[in-house]
Amino acid sequence: MVFEYAPAPESRSIVTIAPEYGLFIDGEFTAPVEDHLFTTSNPATEDVLSRVTEAQGDDVDRAVAAARRAFEQTWGPMPGAERAKYLYRIARLIQERSRELAVLETLDNGKPIKETRDVDIPLVAAHFFYHAGWADKLEHAGYGPHPQPLGVAGQIIPWNFPLLMLAWKVAPALACGNTVVLKAAETTPLTALAFAEICQQADLPPGVVNILTGAGETGRLLVEHPGTDKIAFTGSTEVGRSIMRALAGTEKRLTLELGGKGANIVFDDAPIDETVEGIVNGIFFNQGHVCCAGSRLLLQESIADEVVERLKVRLATLRLGDPLDKNTDIGAINSAEQLARIDELAKSGDDENADRWSSPCALPDRGWWFPPTVFTGVTQAHRIAREEIFGPVLSVLTFRTPDEAVQKANNTPYGLSAGIWTEKGSRILWMAQQLRAGVVWANTFNRFDPTSPFGGYKESGFGREGGIQGLGAYLATEEAR
Ligand code: NDP
Repeated sequence: MVFEYAPAPESRSIVTIAPEYGLFIDGEFTAPVEDHLFTTSNPATEDVLSRVTEAQGDDVDRAVAAARRAFEQTWGPMPGAERAKYLYRIARLIQERSRELAVLETLDNGKPIKETRDVDIPLVAAHFFYHAGWADKLEHAGYGPHPQPLGVAGQIIPWNFPLLMLAWKVAPALACGNTVVLKAAETTPLTALAFAEICQQADLPPGVVNILTGAGETGRLLVEHPGTDKIAFTGSTEVGRSIMRALAGTEKRLTLELGGKGANIVFDDAPIDETVEGIVNGIFFNQGHVCCAGSRLLLQESIADEVVERLKVRLATLRLGDPLDKNTDIGAINSAEQLARIDELAKSGDDENADRWSSPCALPDRGWWFPPTVFTGVTQAHRIAREEIFGPVLSVLTFRTPDEAVQKANNTPYGLSAGIWTEKGSRILWMAQQLRAGVVWANTFNRFDPTSPFGGYKESGFGREGGIQGLGAYLATEEAR
């Protein structure tokens, strides 16, 4: 018997979206300038949501100058206990406005409401609460008796977790006494602008947080601006490389959180039902737009056929469609460009003779969609085993021994995440020591917490965000833990 689900759409009436937005500089919104407006759309319908401003060079100048003034005159000299009050206030305002923020994020990004409501926004608030707690205790964090802020931080974030990536960057920077100029991603600016309103509601002193919208060129201007002391970037490895080149020889501090091609490794003693759920969560959460996604599934050969069969049965039950529907598991792809990238890489899998299976779900007529897809018959030489697809596409490989699993898992230019599924604790510990990945999950996947540092090895970047280690990225001390 098959259960049919009645639609359960979340109302969008809680959200007010202005037709146009300016930039948030020095505590105020600038007036939108007609010549510099671009549109942001709902990926599930292609409807235009609003028009936002592409920040120009003089806007970047003004934002950096405002952040410098605030750093020197208000935020830098302020005692940590006072800074903490603002961060707690922001955290509480995020909780109060959580439903509105969840709907807004879903509209602008295309991800399901159950993810924004249950994962993104609660984690955003948790990051501000956690870092509020540190603001007056920095001398106990292990960075020496008088850790000092760096100054003005330029921060650039991607579109896959727009408000959460903002929180990962803004909360530690502010807790440590820095001020920030943040550039939101071109396709998902709306929750960053809502956050600017929250800064106003919290009476945050002008200039402590400045929010710029724009495209890659605005990001480049911010990176190359001589007035910033630190750049924190999350995005593609390609842009990360160009930022490293631009900053080479300067005094600026840099952290990079780049791409990944995480291995999710399943041994034959793993509990199959839980593991299948973990595989689904590892690669199909957020449509696979996750830098630490478990996009390479490594199955022990003896159970490979069984796991793949059970996985297909489970995937066929996932509901793809209206992201505002509370029953939806798989939302829309964030942009036409991203859909084209996913399509191109998936076609390379066909061309290299891997076997493609896609969930038989119907795709809506409008918007940008890609069905949950599994490739078997994949070898390490395939592009779909080496390159980050950043979409709902899983590549399945097999192994026979733990050594072979480690060798295959580490055979990637990336090093962001890995997962291990086995009932043996000793094997988990041994594997975790061998895997070159910044985070290794055991019998779970894609679990995040503000107390836990996150970051990569190799081409996945350097520096950590979250936890005590993440504070070091915003403090002028070399005594990193
Ligand atoms: P980008 O690296 O281009 O974008 C990330 C951020 O950097 C955005 O705010 C972007 O602005 C900005 N940016 C772009 N060019 C520059 C530049 N020269 N200097 C400074 N900032 C810049 O990622 P894309 O959105 O183009 O995605 C491409 C691929 O990157 C994806 O397919 C995925 O593989 C990977 N990716 C990885 C992420 C991760 O979390 N590790 C996140 C996002 C993407 P704008 O949005 O206006 O382009």
